[in-house]
Amino acid sequence: MEKFRVDEVRTWRIRLPYREPFTTSFGTEEVKETIIIGIRSGDHFGYGECVAGRHPMYSYETVDTASYVIDRYLVPSILGEEVDPVSFMETVKWIRGHRMAKATVEMALWDLYAKILGKPLYKVIGGVREKVDVGVSVGIQRTVDDLIKKIGEYLEMGYGRIKIKIKPGWDVDVLRRIRKEYPDIKLTVDANSAYDLEKHMSILKALDEFNLLYIEQPLAYSDLVGHSKLQKELSTPVCLDESITDSHKAWEALEIDAARVINIKPGRVGGTGESIKIHDLAEEHGVPVWMGGMLETGIGRAHNVSIATLRNFKFPGDISASERYYNRDIIREPFVLEKESKMSVRKSPGIGVEIDWEFFSTLVVKEKRYGV
Ligand SMILES: [Mg+2]
Repeated sequence: MEKFRVDEVRTWRIRLPYREPFTTSFGTEEVKETIIIGIRSGDHFGYGECVAGRHPMYSYETVDTASYVIDRYLVPSILGEEVDPVSFMETVKWIRGHRMAKATVEMALWDLYAKILGKPLYKVIGGVREKVDVGVSVGIQRTVDDLIKKIGEYLEMGYGRIKIKIKPGWDVDVLRRIRKEYPDIKLTVDANSAYDLEKHMSILKALDEFNLLYIEQPLAYSDLVGHSKLQKELSTPVCLDESITDSHKAWEALEIDAARVINIKPGRVGGTGESIKIHDLAEEHGVPVWMGGMLETGIGRAHNVSIATLRNFKFPGDISASERYYNRDIIREPFVLEKESKMSVRKSPGIGVEIDWEFFSTLVVKEKRYGV
């Protein structure tokens, strides 16, 4: 891998309003607050996006911790240096964890590397398709009727796979109703660790009757052994998301049959290189993967679409159109849903998107610039 010199780094903290408020167990979020990084070598800029949230709920990392780690450690490790995405990760290996912060920089370096080569990123990493299968994830609604209506709307828009969030009390009856209305749709559930192996085994076993593609992250993120035990009781594949913090964790899960499907989120596992490692390990174990989503703007989305072109991405990803999340995206040509629930990868160099600077500048709350 050819190294290049980093001449300048810029970071922008932005606030981008969601199309509709996004409710989680922590509360309601109305804006996406994130860090966009731009890394320059010569005439080329590579861009990355941080997926950490505002609060340490989904992960211990937050926009603030990521911002601190990027400024204090990651920028100094590349500024004025000859680097490539792989050597960067080696250099910052001593920093424990903080994979979202590292991914922000690493993914920008991949974009930059591909732009220097003059090739689209998906080709540089060995992608095998120009369109990726996508689906939509539907949150817990006020009533089952509301959920059925929402699902109907997404099917109408052309989404070919529906994922619903479940939790105790919002599971078997809800699924029974969905299957009554839509017996044949590609359907899957995500529990975000809401279940307990001892307490909920009968409910989890009952999910087998709904012909789900997989059951995502039913148990605690740290509980690989529990997921392995659960898999023995189920015919539906268990899919791990939050548990897969890096490629070593993926290996452990695969070795004990705790994951027959893996959801890869590049911005969470440490970036593109780590995602490829997880992808390859899963393939060696005969386990398919799919691309998760963290409500990214067009920058993160463009990276995810590029990575989802790899061979072992076999289930539709949580990569919805930009308009599903934002009234206006920060890139010039937002991602759109195409026929047969597909999305096209960009063919111009790198991740192939351009920032809409006029709009972007209205979102910036803090800007930093490091030059040499
Ligand atoms: Mg998930």
